[in-house]
Amino acid sequence: MSDMIRLLPETVANQIAAGEVIQRPASALKDLVENAVDAGSTKIEVFIKDSGKSSIHIIDNGCGMSPTDARLSFSRHATSKIRTAEDLFSIRTKGFRGEALASVAAVAQVEIKTRRHEDETGTLLQVDGNVFKLQEPVSTAPGTSILVRNLFFNIPARRNFLKSDSIEARHNIDEFERIALAHPEVSFHLNQNGVEIFKLPVSNLRQRIVNVNGANYNERLVPVHEETSLLTISGFVGKPEFSKKTRGEQFLFVNKRYIKDGYLNHAVTKAFEELLSKDSYASYWLYIDIDPSRIDVNIHPTKTEIKFEDERSVYAIVRASVKRSLGQYNVSPALNFDREPTFDVPHAMRFKAVNKPMVTVNTDYNPFKSSTPLASAGWEKMYDQLQEVEVKSHETPATLPLPEVPDEQEYTTLFQLQGFIIGKKQETLLIIDATAAHERILYDRFLLNEEVLLPQHDLFPQTLNFSAGDFHLIQEMETDLRSMGFDMKVFGVNTYVLQATPSGMMTGNAVQLIERMLEQFKNNASNYSTGKRELLARALSKSMAIKKGSQLSRDEMQAIVNEIEKSEKGKTGIDGKRCAIYLKASELSEFLKGSI
Ligand code: ADP
Ligand code: MG
Repeated sequence: MSDMIRLLPETVANQIAAGEVIQRPASALKDLVENAVDAGSTKIEVFIKDSGKSSIHIIDNGCGMSPTDARLSFSRHATSKIRTAEDLFSIRTKGFRGEALASVAAVAQVEIKTRRHEDETGTLLQVDGNVFKLQEPVSTAPGTSILVRNLFFNIPARRNFLKSDSIEARHNIDEFERIALAHPEVSFHLNQNGVEIFKLPVSNLRQRIVNVNGANYNERLVPVHEETSLLTISGFVGKPEFSKKTRGEQFLFVNKRYIKDGYLNHAVTKAFEELLSKDSYASYWLYIDIDPSRIDVNIHPTKTEIKFEDERSVYAIVRASVKRSLGQYNVSPALNFDREPTFDVPHAMRFKAVNKPMVTVNTDYNPFKSSTPLASAGWEKMYDQLQEVEVKSHETPATLPLPEVPDEQEYTTLFQLQGFIIGKKQETLLIIDATAAHERILYDRFLLNEEVLLPQHDLFPQTLNFSAGDFHLIQEMETDLRSMGFDMKVFGVNTYVLQATPSGMMTGNAVQLIERMLEQFKNNASNYSTGKRELLARALSKSMAIKKGSQLSRDEMQAIVNEIEKSEKGKTGIDGKRCAIYLKASELSEFLKGSI
């Protein structure tokens, strides 16, 4: 038999390698913006079309490239940032592998215009899927403009694999935010589909965090600063009362590189100790500056993980400095964290969720047309609205009636065992995971397409401040949110006013719910290949469902059981796991043998 091993042609090798570096538009965006930062730019502008699938255009005012360098920059392992392997241990730039441009060019159509400040003219280069199309002198501003079009045009399978625009857009915003948070000394603009998402002027770190997240963040930040012989740590932690229900707001930077580090995250969490409830996560923006020879930045393909030479000491310093800051600023819990604020409502109200709501319908009400244009109406109108609300709340019964359950459906025994509802109906034993079941019930209701959920105006209009990125996301969700019963509209810069919530489904604080829903949505966006509406319904259900182990009344248990029995997919939770088991007495012996 003849020899079988062959060297791959360079274009194929490049495409394969590119697959590892460039997984989605956000990876290209990250690498290219990092290049602009490495080039010493003070101003970086990014324009994205169709979440980066059509184009990503980055313009910087950095050092630019000579014609030869511009051409060479597209070769694999071509870099100006290191020369020898030792240089890896003195690195302060984001890039060093010389892979990004080669990878992007292997899977897209790239046009680069670049000019060094000392040169009269610049260079224009066009590369399509790694093939040079054109190189000529061009008149252009000092710095570099790089336009990446039709990402994955030559790998259709990869292109099809991309998620919906809103999800890819979210990834772009996340990557962009991480770089912008690391470099307040650089001004950044991000524009997606003609909408300005971020406009971040050069500022100090506190202002940068506030500009990224919204004005209401200023009061949330507690400064951290500690200088030791090993490292300097600075930045901010969020006051405990503003902690999040998911890990969305945890940023650790080492030498201005965003990294993920479970061990150091633990150090911060430890420092918060009793200040946080079990199911909430500290927010932090922490910046470690350390001699590059004491870390290895080259252990992970996306460079988001690094290795510290002396991990334990770093842990100890992080923990001690966060703890000290919290103590110094006398931050103590302002809320009673043992209670879940969402459920500080009477039991009967709490379980509106699964009951058929008996709402007095205002037939004149059109959920898509709001009577009071609040943004321009001023305070008097706000007051009008309040009075209107009061009248309405008289029309709506304060506690909604529980479903009438026909006798034969009644469970003779129904009790709660931690997070489970256990019931007996005639010869059948029922075990339900209450939280998972409630999520299923809410999810199904949110996805009922034929019935637009009625908004319930029994709410004093509430203002919701968002970060620029979240605001953009909410705007994209607006139509779906309306059809699910949330009546909300834009109320100034990065602000919405929430005027109504789905009738009979709300439990507690609507603002918290929306915040939590957004966190859920962002966290799940990359895990599910479902559509936006399903993702939204999932995030809402997860945020609204009763929490694990909360005490249920008999009526609430009954209501869950009824809804689950009615529901088509009632036995399966929205995560695909079983949430209810029915066991006939006759099946019990099989069950005990382990065959069920
Ligand atoms: P790396 O960043 O790892 O060096 P890249 O493939 O991202 O590799 O870039 C290759 C080289 O091209 C860089 O080392 C740098 O010299 C040059 N380069 C890339 N982008 C820019 C830019 N925006 N401005 C100036 N030079 C750039
Ligand atoms: Mg690079």
